Amino acid sequence: MKVLVTGGAGLIGAHLTRRLLSRGDEVVLLDNFSSGSRANVAALDGASGFSSLEHDVIVPFEIDCDLIYNLACPASPPSYQSAPIETVKTSVLGAINVLDLARRNGATVVQASTSEIYGDPEVHPQPESYSGNVNPLGPRACYDEGKRCAETLFADYRRVHDLSVRIARIFNTYGPMMRPDDGRVVSNFIVQALNGRPITLHGDGSQTRSLCYVADTVEALLRLPDAPDEEWTPVNIGNPAEITVREIAETVKTLTGSASPIVTTPRPVDDPERRRPDIKRAGAVLDWRPQTNLRDGLSATIEWFDAQLYSATDRPAYASS
Ligand code: NAD
Ligand code: UDP
Repeated sequence: MKVLVTGGAGLIGAHLTRRLLSRGDEVVLLDNFSSGSRANVAALDGASGFSSLEHDVIVPFEIDCDLIYNLACPASPPSYQSAPIETVKTSVLGAINVLDLARRNGATVVQASTSEIYGDPEVHPQPESYSGNVNPLGPRACYDEGKRCAETLFADYRRVHDLSVRIARIFNTYGPMMRPDDGRVVSNFIVQALNGRPITLHGDGSQTRSLCYVADTVEALLRLPDAPDEEWTPVNIGNPAEITVREIAETVKTLTGSASPIVTTPRPVDDPERRRPDIKRAGAVLDWRPQTNLRDGLSATIEWFDAQLYSATDRPAYASS
């Protein structure tokens, strides 16, 4: 199988690429490195079956492939909000370009959609049937509405061209190979804790998220193309263990042994109040549920960041050994 992974230099793409290579697939990784890490790709240089291409999905491209994972899009709110127009173009023009490529190749194409299409949800937990509550004019809309439009394009290419499509609605995923300056909650809190800097809680930290370890998310993505073709409609992929953001901060503090204070900073505009996936459909269609609990996932992520940030000799005394 020849697989194209757009956005392969990012968190999920880096793990997905490694799993695809380890099962014997040929992988072409395409990325413009706007929010991904060159180190995630350099580590794969020379691996059997692996090649990479620096390219922007906004611009049409030609690659032979049997399967496409369309992951290209910044996922961290500070990243996508710093380039909102590029973010909309990435989701919408990027979707059109991968869908047209899939048509030319007769390939199946998997879209990395998001829980953000539910916006600030009024239904809790969120099933796939919920249409969402998105502010189309707010600072998050470039991401939310771009991803919603991409889902529409996937549905229309299926209807109009009978294309084989899959849509993964991914909920907050974390793990090793995130960029330290990525800006999302897990990387921020871990890097702050390891550096002994204040842990920046947005608001009082009572808002919730449901955090899924990246290996679990990737396992679901790997199963998706094998689902029956009629199951092309979106599937929630996430860990239903809901936790407040304050509890995430406290858990990171405990696991790192850090003396960092937890401080309150302003809450971003339109920050969703609560989020938790209903994963019954993933269980039925993919025979999948997450296997990694939060403490184990955070411990592995902390260990990875610690190794990235410090050599054995310059590790601060307060950081866990
Ligand atoms: P990430 O930011 O770590 O990776 C995204 C990758 O896409 C980066 O390597 C970036 O350089 C690349 N990219 C961005 N714009 C591009 C463009 N125009 N052309 C080519 N490459 C481009 O994000 P991630 O966490 O790995 O997320 C991967 C995908 O999954 C994204 O589409 C994201 O929206 C989706 N998703 C992620 C999460 C999560 O919590 N991690 C949740 C929901 C959805
Ligand atoms: N958050 C926080 N401090 C930070 C970064 C994020 O309190 O330094 C909060 C953020 O406001 C949100 C939650 O953590 O309520 C998850 O944020 P993230 O950016 O990881 O993802 P989101 O789910 O908002 O896309």
